Amino acid sequence: MAVYKILHYPHILLRKPSTAVEKFTPSLKTFTQNMIETMNAFEGIGLAAPQVGILKRVMIVDVRPYLENPQLKEWHGSISFSLDGEKKPLPSPMILVNPEIVRKDTEISFPFDGCLSFPGVDRGQTTRWKDIVLEAKDTDGKAVRIECNGILSICLQHEMDHLEGVLFIDRVQGKVSENEVAADIMDHEEDAATRRKMKKLKLVDARSEKLDFL
Ligand SMILES: [Zn+2]
Repeated sequence: MAVYKILHYPHILLRKPSTAVEKFTPSLKTFTQNMIETMNAFEGIGLAAPQVGILKRVMIVDVRPYLENPQLKEWHGSISFSLDGEKKPLPSPMILVNPEIVRKDTEISFPFDGCLSFPGVDRGQTTRWKDIVLEAKDTDGKAVRIECNGILSICLQHEMDHLEGVLFIDRVQGKVSENEVAADIMDHEEDAATRRKMKKLKLVDARSEKLDFL
């Protein structure tokens, strides 16, 4: 198991589109397990492969911290998950390969959008879709289908955006100063407590791993 280094804005790879996974190999499973380790280490609810420098259509999501928080009840939403056509409980964390949003409906405002590639940046109010239907594969190549709204819908859209090089600041309502955002991230990176945490985590660069699904 490894915790990967997360690329921070304005890293150039965060703006590149990712390509589909064609080979469902054992290293795809190892890679996604390490992505889960990474998301947990940084206390996120989602992470997309480009955020660790791998331009492949892979993302992980675990919205349990929201679903378990009664104060965020308004964002719990409804969720229907199926695997190979059979209804199942939502896996948490969930790994999605080659995801596609096949239906979306009704624009809404989401007040707490934020991103692990933007540490130290205040959360923003973004425009998102309320209801979506997403289709994907799991790491065995089985067909996943999710119909949802609420926080899962928002989080899936946020991670899907990463696969196109789109970032949450692009969806924030009102003007965003890219220079200010970059300066906030730099302040956070230079903070002594952050540096100590990073050192302790012994971060691995995912791009230096042998990944045979690329
Ligand atoms: Zn993000």
